[in-house]
Amino acid sequence: MVYKKTPRELERQRTACKVVAEVLLYAGVVLKAGMTTLELDKLIEEKCSSLGAVPSFKGLYGFPGAACISVNDELIHGIPSDRCVLKDGDLVSVDFGACKNGFHGDSTVTFVVGGPDKAGEEARRLLDVTRRALEIGIENAYAGNRLGDLGYAVEKYVTSQGCSVVREYVGHGIGKQVHEDPSVPNYGRPGKGLRLSEGVVLAIEPMVNYGSPEIRVLDNKWTVVTRDGSLCAHFEHTVAVTGNGPEILTML
Ligand code: MG
Ligand code: MG
Repeated sequence: MVYKKTPRELERQRTACKVVAEVLLYAGVVLKAGMTTLELDKLIEEKCSSLGAVPSFKGLYGFPGAACISVNDELIHGIPSDRCVLKDGDLVSVDFGACKNGFHGDSTVTFVVGGPDKAGEEARRLLDVTRRALEIGIENAYAGNRLGDLGYAVEKYVTSQGCSVVREYVGHGIGKQVHEDPSVPNYGRPGKGLRLSEGVVLAIEPMVNYGSPEIRVLDNKWTVVTRDGSLCAHFEHTVAVTGNGPEILTML
């Protein structure tokens, strides 16, 4: 069932989403070579608490970290670890959700450790493609459009750039629960799927592989990596469908 948010509920959800945006901004500032992903996770959790919010993912389905921190060929659900030491040029996806006022926000940024100049050409291109894929998803989140149109537009763009979208994991509705209906795939058939309407709030999150779309899950039962070991990237925003078009909630 798709829960549409009333203007009052949306106002509360906005507050949660601003926390997420602020925490991710902070993560990008403190992130540096030599730091472990567990240290980064601790800083993220502290920042989140200081803003009066609770990390959404900690304990969700048993996930141990505050954020999912995935490095290089890790796509999603990376578990913060004191053995994973970041180095310059690493691609680090920080996927973070926060709950405040009874509502959740969810957003992901893939950072380059040491700044974009430290990344190789492949990595920079992958980030550009994935960022643009998210923009295309957001542009399609308007009342009257269908989820099949949104997914189709994202996939069409990504494949036109020689990259691939992962099909096993998708975006989602978000509100009082982190994961609500509907599913928001990064692929689809035009004219099919849920027709969007005002008050629907979606976490739109293209997951893009530089190589083949195949993935596998590591023995820790969480971390999803590309099967061919190629780089991957992930960007996500929580977006409300409003009378004035899409509103990105997880943006300051
Ligand atoms: Mg997320
Ligand atoms: Mg999400």
